[in-house]
Amino acid sequence: MVEAGVLVEALSRGLPGDRVVADPDVLAALSHDDAEWAPAGKAAAAVRARSEAEVQHVVRTCAGLGAPVVPRGAGTGLSGGANAVGGCVILDLSRMNRVLEIDPDNLVAIVQPGAVNNDVKAAVAEHGLWYPPDPASAPWSTIGGNVATNAGGLCCLKYGVTRDYVLGLRAVVGGPVAYGDAVRLGRRTTKGVAGLDLVGLFVGSEGTLGVVTEVTLRLRPAPAGPPRTVVAAFADLVASGRAVAQITRRGLTPAVLELLDRACLEAVEEWKHLGLEAEATALLLARVDTPGDSGAAEAAAIAAAMTDAGAIWAEQSTDDAEAEALFEARLLAYPALERLGPVLTEDICVPRSKVPEMLGQVTAIAARHGVRVATIAHAGDGNLHPLLITPPGDEAARAAAQAAFEEFLDAAIALGGTVTGEHGVGILKRDGMRRELDPGSVALQEAVRRALDPRGVFNPGKG
Ligand SMILES: Cc1cc2nc3c(=O)[nH]c(=O)nc-3n(C[C@H](O)[C@H](O)[C@H](O)COP(=O)(O)OP(=O)(O)OC[C@H]3O[C@@H](n4cnc5c(N)ncnc54)[C@H](O)[C@@H]3O)c2cc1C
Repeated sequence: MVEAGVLVEALSRGLPGDRVVADPDVLAALSHDDAEWAPAGKAAAAVRARSEAEVQHVVRTCAGLGAPVVPRGAGTGLSGGANAVGGCVILDLSRMNRVLEIDPDNLVAIVQPGAVNNDVKAAVAEHGLWYPPDPASAPWSTIGGNVATNAGGLCCLKYGVTRDYVLGLRAVVGGPVAYGDAVRLGRRTTKGVAGLDLVGLFVGSEGTLGVVTEVTLRLRPAPAGPPRTVVAAFADLVASGRAVAQITRRGLTPAVLELLDRACLEAVEEWKHLGLEAEATALLLARVDTPGDSGAAEAAAIAAAMTDAGAIWAEQSTDDAEAEALFEARLLAYPALERLGPVLTEDICVPRSKVPEMLGQVTAIAARHGVRVATIAHAGDGNLHPLLITPPGDEAARAAAQAAFEEFLDAAIALGGTVTGEHGVGILKRDGMRRELDPGSVALQEAVRRALDPRGVFNPGKG
């Protein structure tokens, strides 16, 4: 492992004075993402890059000295993907945060990787445009992080995930070209099939193939009008899952279909006092953005599907403030639960017809291990986030939660699902991914990595 002082000196030689961070406290803060349970190594240094040329210098220097590079956006990741590995340089992209171009004629925006998702949304909205991918972390997470994890979100159900909105990239890479070379991948046209889909390969690659320095995004026109909200309460979690399956089977596509269980509602209410009623065991929140009479009919059909699946009640919200409070509760659920103790976040995704069965298993597995679980879900996608909460410092509870976490993965795989719907493999899902994937698929992935990063510079040990 190269000595930290040597690395800092070599990095500093090609960068303005304020870019290199060696202060141990700041380094420690930059060495961990939001996955509280994922281990982190000790970084040698961090660099707060402000341009692609600076990223190139970092990659060249690290490749030359044999130090790993760990790219980092906002550090909101939930898999340990941005966590330091021993002797690495954390490459913080959050200061490369400009929106470089908005092209309303072609529904395209070009942004730097550190641009925050909600800032991009706000910038394009000024032109009557919309960037749909909306992870619940959108107020903080960066487009670079979203691209590297292929982030999902609430409206993926109807509008797709980050991958569906990335037309092109610039990235600083290594391997078949010199380490530190910048390449352009993809294009800005809506169609284009010249060559292999390297943009698709980079999206979701968790910083293991290179560092993204610019992103060309596909936009949509802004939604036509305010959405309608449908809310349903259920006496048990499995019934709410049946409603999800029923909505899917009836061919209904709300823009959003989210689930919150009682533990989440109580945690948010205790913290924010939004006036939420936490009497039901689970709530389903649907949003319909189809305008006019068709939207009204769609909302009514969704409420009917929820009732037929066993909802205690299901209704279209006529009170905008109440609907807002419910969606706010959805967004606040994770930080509200984090206040109660270390949270181990699950991210399984199952075929939508299997949501009821998976929810039943979540309850049963957690009960068997005696762990506290709260579930939020992008339910319409079959993407469930059972959150395991343990009392701080309770090692036995931690071990029980870890065992339940692994059993959730096996249950999802057995139902034809996946170990990670949107958060990425990072550190937490490395074993689970290998249990899920065909061994041949793992071998192909490893071959691609070896070809593009033979020296193992980019985020080694992740994914
Ligand atoms: C409250 C909360 C809610 C969340 N909700 C959602 C949700 O609804 N949907 C969802 O998908 N995720 C969600 N997440 C997880 C997280 O926000 C996403 O994974 C997000 O995409 C990470 O972005 P980031 O900028 O924080 O990246 P980081 O955490 O900094 O990094 C994530 C990964 O991307 C890599 N990376 C970052 N920037 C680059 C770059 N420029 N080039 C190459 N690699 C890079 C890192 O090495 C790491 O592997 C949530 C997290 C929190 C805390």
